[in-house]
Amino acid sequence: MKVIKIDKQNWTGGIDKSRENYQIFGPVKDKEHFVFKKLNLKEYPDMENALSVLSPKSILFPQSEKILAASLDESQDDHHIMKRVATDYSPRAVIGIMPCDAKAVQLVKLNFDTDDYRDPYWCDAYEATTFVGLAVNKPSIYDFTLSMGSGPFAEEGLDVLLVDCKDHFLAKVLSEKGDAFLKASGFTSEADADKSAKLINEIKNQAEKAIDAEKVKTEKLKEKSLLELHGASFWEDLSFSCINCGTCTFVCPTCWCFDIQDETKGKKAVRFRNWDSCMSPLFTLHASSHNPRAEKVQRVRQRFMHKLKYFVDKYDQGTMCVGCGRCVVHCPVNIDIREICNTMNSYEAEQA
Ligand code: SF4
Ligand code: SF4
Repeated sequence: MKVIKIDKQNWTGGIDKSRENYQIFGPVKDKEHFVFKKLNLKEYPDMENALSVLSPKSILFPQSEKILAASLDESQDDHHIMKRVATDYSPRAVIGIMPCDAKAVQLVKLNFDTDDYRDPYWCDAYEATTFVGLAVNKPSIYDFTLSMGSGPFAEEGLDVLLVDCKDHFLAKVLSEKGDAFLKASGFTSEADADKSAKLINEIKNQAEKAIDAEKVKTEKLKEKSLLELHGASFWEDLSFSCINCGTCTFVCPTCWCFDIQDETKGKKAVRFRNWDSCMSPLFTLHASSHNPRAEKVQRVRQRFMHKLKYFVDKYDQGTMCVGCGRCVVHCPVNIDIREICNTMNSYEAEQA
């Protein structure tokens, strides 16, 4: 494994050099919160490793995206024919992404890039992106990534993993895309492989010790009966305080639901794709006015069954939750997926 040493005094110069070939995205502090955004000249990713409010999923899957457009001008030969909107898919690097958020991209990929269907918007953005992760040296109290198949130093979905070693970063090169990004940034100084592996392992072990991997249990989710979990009486209690605000779905790096809206203005028509939320009663409202999830309890159950049972059964790749903790931090009524996961994992059907 190739490891590159990056002295921190060369960091911003390298980022500037990379801008010749890449658009740069990264976390920055915006008032009291961290956000992921496209960085302008002289803006640099904040490498403090704080949990951003929204995950970087919007870099591939924007909150609102123009996907098709048409002219309504009947004097034009191609009027009323929807055409893909030109979008910039030039190379971009997402710097400072947390390992769990990179794993989340791989879970979302299962939905947008399948054998039967390939979502061109998401896939083109994915292919243009290099993921430069930052290992989490000091996990927060909300981090339960180790229970959900990820971890503070996990490498899945990353092209480079940066490890903060005080006055320098060690950059593990994990793919050709990662190698190309580091070269384009002028970061080419190879570190001693054995020494750097030892140092990275020490920091990793310390970070992992800070997370209680036993706190959230998932190992029995697959063997549980879907129908018994669906019919369990605990959903009424769990959903009681939910106000269906949708925050948990918007902050989640793995939530992928969307709605399509058409808008017209004068002789122009545009089709948008917008994030949607299974917590909204409108999400499943049919044109007939029938709503299969009209009750709050049905919507709350749907969110957690999807993440912790339907997805587990369908893909056999663990849960559709990477343990980032965002929904735990931001739910206004303290609904906690860690508790719900344990409840589902230990559920025994009531005897009739
Ligand atoms: S954030 Fe909390 S209150 Fe809001 S929809 Fe999600 S579970 Fe319900
Ligand atoms: S369900 Fe919550 S903890 Fe899990 S990935 Fe989504 S926001 Fe993070």
